Amino acid sequence: MLIDLGYRAPDSLKEALQILGEDSSYLILAGGTDLLVEYFDAREKMGKVLDISRMEELKKMEIGEEKIFLGALTTHEDIYRNSDLQKTVPLLCRAAKSVGAPQIRNQGTLGGNMANASPAADLAPPLIALGARIMLSGPDGERSFNLDEFFTGPGKTRKNSDEIITGVEFSIPGGDFRGTFLKVGQRRALAIAVASLAIALSCRDGKVEEVRLAAGSVAPVPLRARETEKILQGQKLDNLPLENAAGRLEKEASPIDDIRGTGDYRARVLGNLLRKGLQEVLSQEGVSENG
Ligand SMILES: Cc1cc2nc3c(=O)[nH]c(=O)nc-3n(C[C@H](O)[C@H](O)[C@H](O)COP(=O)(O)OP(=O)(O)OC[C@H]3O[C@@H](n4cnc5c(N)ncnc54)[C@H](O)[C@@H]3O)c2cc1C
Repeated sequence: MLIDLGYRAPDSLKEALQILGEDSSYLILAGGTDLLVEYFDAREKMGKVLDISRMEELKKMEIGEEKIFLGALTTHEDIYRNSDLQKTVPLLCRAAKSVGAPQIRNQGTLGGNMANASPAADLAPPLIALGARIMLSGPDGERSFNLDEFFTGPGKTRKNSDEIITGVEFSIPGGDFRGTFLKVGQRRALAIAVASLAIALSCRDGKVEEVRLAAGSVAPVPLRARETEKILQGQKLDNLPLENAAGRLEKEASPIDDIRGTGDYRARVLGNLLRKGLQEVLSQEGVSENG
């Protein structure tokens, strides 16, 4: 007689979706760096586990002429070490490099970072700033969301329990593109962000043509700072309203007090990250190879 231990490790997405279609109570396990910590003291409550880590189709990284697709099982280390990503979207690589320590970066995945939906998730701000879409597959088919509309609260997303994140996709920035990711933690390594900020700026004729700002750890979800973007949009690069923008960003954020800092402190850190980040992008040559 076969005993169902409640652990399944399918090789394919099709099989995984079949399992979830029959029983959506399975907990999805990728790298386990969030999930196993969450259940460390409550293993008896864990229930059934669907281990997706063997699914090769979720490990794909496709870096095309115009678009980039990163499969859900791409690790932080895969992102940070990829030379094409370093050339085209260095802000994303910088965020991946800032995650945890080498063990966590080798084990933790992009899909896990998104599904866990921490306001401090380090890959969320750069991906939102790059205008990424997140792709899901479920027993009823595929869905996708703009990443800045995917998170609904701390630990909450628009993903249903029977859906698997398959990856994220975004356009390779063209023209005179500049970007950065900055993070302040309580120490240099293994630090969850006190505040983080991603800036993605496309310029034309010495002006800001398009800007996206996304911040971590300063709101219940990774924050797309649309009000602050409006202040920078269309402005001359040699005369950016830094103080006005930093002040607006501090107001646009709604950080809480916690063990890593007071809300007031986090807001001020965020304003400083914008000042520093904008000065950094102003000193960059366009980083895109596509220009
Ligand atoms: C010591 C330590 C330091 C850390 N430092 C950082 C840090 O600096 N920055 C940071 O952002 N994070 C950090 N983390 C958190 C964690 O490492 C990352 O969020 C990681 O990317 C999670 O990925 P995972 O594959 O390990 O997810 P798992 O633990 O396997 O899963 C996390 C959640 O996502 C769900 N899930 C996973 N993959 C999918 C999928 N494809 N589809 C649907 N649901 C899915 C799981 O069911 C679970 O709810 C740290 C964790 C530890 C333990």
